[in-house]
Amino acid sequence: MTTPYAERPALSHRTGAVGEGGEPSAYRAVDPTELVTRAVGLARETQRWWASIGFAGRRHLLDRWRQELTDGMEDLAAVVREETGKPHGDAMLEIGLAVEHLAWAARKAPKVLGRRRVGSTLLAAHLAATVEYLPQGVIGVIGPWNYPVFTPMGSIGYALAGGNTVVFKPSELTPRTGQWLADSFERAVGSPCLQVVQGEAQVGEALCRSGVDKLGFTGSSATAKKVMATCAETLTPVLIEGGGKDALIVDEDADVEAAAQAAVWGGLSNAGQTCIGVERVLAHTAVYDEVVAAIVRQASAVRAGLDDSADLGPITLPKQVRIIHDQVAEAVADGARAVVGAPASTDGVGPDSALTDPARLLQPVVLVDIPEGARIQTEETFGPVITVERVADMDAAVAAANAVDYGLGGAVFSRRNGPEIARRVRSGMTSVNNVIGFAGLPELPFGGVGGSGFGRIHGADGLREFCYAKSVARQRFTPPVSMTNFQRR
Ligand code: NAD
Repeated sequence: MTTPYAERPALSHRTGAVGEGGEPSAYRAVDPTELVTRAVGLARETQRWWASIGFAGRRHLLDRWRQELTDGMEDLAAVVREETGKPHGDAMLEIGLAVEHLAWAARKAPKVLGRRRVGSTLLAAHLAATVEYLPQGVIGVIGPWNYPVFTPMGSIGYALAGGNTVVFKPSELTPRTGQWLADSFERAVGSPCLQVVQGEAQVGEALCRSGVDKLGFTGSSATAKKVMATCAETLTPVLIEGGGKDALIVDEDADVEAAAQAAVWGGLSNAGQTCIGVERVLAHTAVYDEVVAAIVRQASAVRAGLDDSADLGPITLPKQVRIIHDQVAEAVADGARAVVGAPASTDGVGPDSALTDPARLLQPVVLVDIPEGARIQTEETFGPVITVERVADMDAAVAAANAVDYGLGGAVFSRRNGPEIARRVRSGMTSVNNVIGFAGLPELPFGGVGGSGFGRIHGADGLREFCYAKSVARQRFTPPVSMTNFQRR
């Protein structure tokens, strides 16, 4: 039996294969505009077919991709480990979550996006109306290096499930991971619906200018501003998943051990290189000493290293080493105290330093007595550093959590008032008596407010983000009153 998806367009060439293995020296030699134009052209040619096979056809093919990812998980995790330095377990965790998101998006797309009748008594008398969510067309996706599988899948999987095709620019630090994703898609689907373009900022800029129908950006808020400015040239709509400075609030009635455990895991996992990592702990004065003691005990047991038994890997982005050191050293110079770890030298590492360079292995630091207005209180640190601040009550905690430009995630530990406090925190996502719980749940929209960006990936909102609402209203019987009046005149 011939299925509609058997008529898929053939792969004419692989735009993503710029320099075998994605070596930076190779992709620097290619003109970014030419590279991106070719990829967007192929994605556009394919999009009509991809939309035409409907939800069932796409689910079938996306399921095959999910299977490729599942079968190749160990292999992909090894690539992620080589490029980011993160421990094997962390790489497996992000791939596992990405696979779940892909499956969810493919399964739920018909219900969320499919055509449905709408009506009110008034409307039904004259009109039959439907609303559905149609694909925008070709979606550009620019990704970061810190979760190079999980993060882009939040855009790629949901955009594809909605009937769009995608041109993906992975971070220049993780080109082979990006290529692995595109190659596995090609094996599963055999069609160029997912293109990968490799390169640095110029390739990202070319993608912003390329005429894609929407651009999904995940990265730092500083780069997000440049992306928005470039997209403004062509009025290309954008989704921004920017940085964060998440706070974990501990109320006086909280389970202190659980809160400390969450703070240590949320703050230190992936060596603190997590957009929704816990960077600040705001503890009620009644439990502050207990919270500090529990965090010190638990964080002291966490070790960065290059061996398989290490809890944390190296700092992936060389220039970040210096930023982390400087923020810690400045805070300490102004009166902060390191109760775990110590501020090390501020020399940083050069751009060509290897992931195995010992200077890139930062051991956990926990700081208390944070001076008011310190950079470490307001700017994203993106390293294995947790600050603990004392707050008089929950009003003060909420005010301190909200006194930053960012508004991505956060957590509240409180036995009685968790959800109520969580709703007052100005961020897109807040866990109660847990941490970062929302990332693994495909049902929940993911994204921030303020300096952390706008738009949502994941969940029904994430599916709609890459589509547009289409209303069709059909006249049932008599023409509308206004038209009748006009004809009589
Ligand atoms: P980054 O901003 O340096 O780079 C992100 C991507 O943008 C890369 O692919 C890069 O090549 C590209 N880029 C750089 N300059 C560009 C330009 N002028 N035009 C177009 N593209 C350009 O970020 P990063 O260091 O890769 O990632 C870390 C940051 O990402 C952190 O701030 C982290 O909080 C954030 N992040 C956010 C989320 C989220 O969901 N909100 C998830 C992961 C990471």
